[in-house]
Amino acid sequence: MKRERQGGRPRNGRDTPAPRQAPTGGEREAYARPKRSLGQNFLSDPNIAAKIVAALAITAPDTVVEIGPGRGALTPFILAAGPGSYLALEKDRDLAVRLAREHPGAAVAMVDALRLDWRRLDSLARVKVVGNLPYNIASPLLWDLCAGASRFDRGVFMVQHEVARRLAALPGGREYGALSAWVQAFARVDYLFKVPPTVFRPMPKVDSAVVAVTPLPADRRPQDPAALAGLLKQLFSLRRKQLGSILKGSLDAAALEWLAGQALSGRNRPEELSPRQLTELAILLKTRSSS
Ligand code: SAM
Repeated sequence: MKRERQGGRPRNGRDTPAPRQAPTGGEREAYARPKRSLGQNFLSDPNIAAKIVAALAITAPDTVVEIGPGRGALTPFILAAGPGSYLALEKDRDLAVRLAREHPGAAVAMVDALRLDWRRLDSLARVKVVGNLPYNIASPLLWDLCAGASRFDRGVFMVQHEVARRLAALPGGREYGALSAWVQAFARVDYLFKVPPTVFRPMPKVDSAVVAVTPLPADRRPQDPAALAGLLKQLFSLRRKQLGSILKGSLDAAALEWLAGQALSGRNRPEELSPRQLTELAILLKTRSSS
């Protein structure tokens, strides 16, 4: 499921199945020491693990894809729910080897989830995606996943509490920004519950929260994601300013007329526009600039 990033450097390589073999002394030591660089805060409370998996509502035909299974806190609950198949994507080789050994029912792939082409998920039927995501990659990963895969049934993710609030934020508030508008342009986001630092080893410094993500139907997803990404970058890097001042010459009569039709004007600020309005404005401005 490797990808070529839109507008970025093509990346090569193949997903590597985790080898099944006996651990060496070095592997055992590496397994015992969490890697901060990979955001390894392992969930140590089975009640929270069960709650996360229950929120995924696994049924028999589902393919469950887990991002960053780590030491397998969620794995037994996923397998007990009896999905059709379970694919675990783990970047850390030691953890991937261990998980494959301990759970023969799991297909474990050693991959960097940030380098996957999530559009490939659409070739599978009834996919559910889950992950207690590493804090440092949660935002870019959900940005790519929600825009890339359009047909998964449901995603349930644990992220930093502040990121969960931003993902689910409604227009108009301080937490609503480019990430909120982007993800909500492609999917519905539901904030589910908060999780304290005490249920992780090692303990993070901040709270976490679990969100559910459900892709919108194809006809409600942005038809020109690149235009939307460009507009969000332009607007939210200057979010304190008014639209009229950020967009300057681009707001011609047609654009102003569209804003008026939305009960908006050049005096509104970026965070006052809904994901749908931002998607429409991106198309309008792109069309005007290329005509
Ligand atoms: N799911 C486990 C749990 O709940 O205890 C582990 C969660 S831990 C916060 C994040 C996991 O993601 C780690 O196992 C880490 O090695 C893995 N990881 C970090 N970056 C990754 C990446 N780019 N691709 C895939 N896995 C990654």
